[in-house]
Amino acid sequence: MTALQQQLLNLRDSLPEGVQLVAVSKFHPVEALREAYEVGQRLFGESRVQELQEKQALLPKDCEWHFIGHLQTNKVKYIAPYVALIHAVDSWRLLHEIDRQAARHARRIRVLLQVHVAQESSKFGFSPDELREFLNLGMWRECQHVEICGLMTMASFVDDEAQVRAEFGQAQELFAWAKAQHFAQSPHFTTCSWGMSDDYPLALEKGSTLVRVGSKIFGARQ
Ligand SMILES: *Cc1c(COP(=O)(O)O)cnc(C)c1O
Repeated sequence: MTALQQQLLNLRDSLPEGVQLVAVSKFHPVEALREAYEVGQRLFGESRVQELQEKQALLPKDCEWHFIGHLQTNKVKYIAPYVALIHAVDSWRLLHEIDRQAARHARRIRVLLQVHVAQESSKFGFSPDELREFLNLGMWRECQHVEICGLMTMASFVDDEAQVRAEFGQAQELFAWAKAQHFAQSPHFTTCSWGMSDDYPLALEKGSTLVRVGSKIFGARQ
């Protein structure tokens, strides 16, 4: 057993029942992903399209590939045939393009809506108000080839645990609101993707069902 494998198993054992782990393998070589695969890891997260394409071609076909980064509309077509979950949808334009590409491949692509709750400024993600407005407008219902499965967020990169808890708590409240208002009839709207290496224990306190952990498994990125 390698150190990476031991680390991965320890992490998986420590997660509550029902919480899934995305092994964030961006910037790490294919050999590292193979090591994780050997101890049963199947969910991998990547944030660049070209890197994902290369790795997907080399790893066994039963891997599930999650796209966790900012996705440019013009690159959706490359990953549409196989991507298992797109975490960071933050515009109508992107959602619509995913729908279009999914239709071309006669599949339904699972996505999460990215919400921006961190105090730190970021270009990406709907603000809570924008998210509510987007869902209330209802245009997303036209997208028959996407399945909106929940929300994704990132907290601020700060040591202040109270702040991080409050931010994840805000995402948790938005999830509950969206579920009650718009997805009460959907068995698929179940995913809260929050928590990374440094803050996943706090994310779990606030309802996370899917943690995205990279450096704690694979070490520092090159
Ligand atoms: C890189 C990345 C992660 C993993 O970060 P670590 O701190 O290495 O665990 C999680 N989510 C997103 C969106 C990322 O880009």
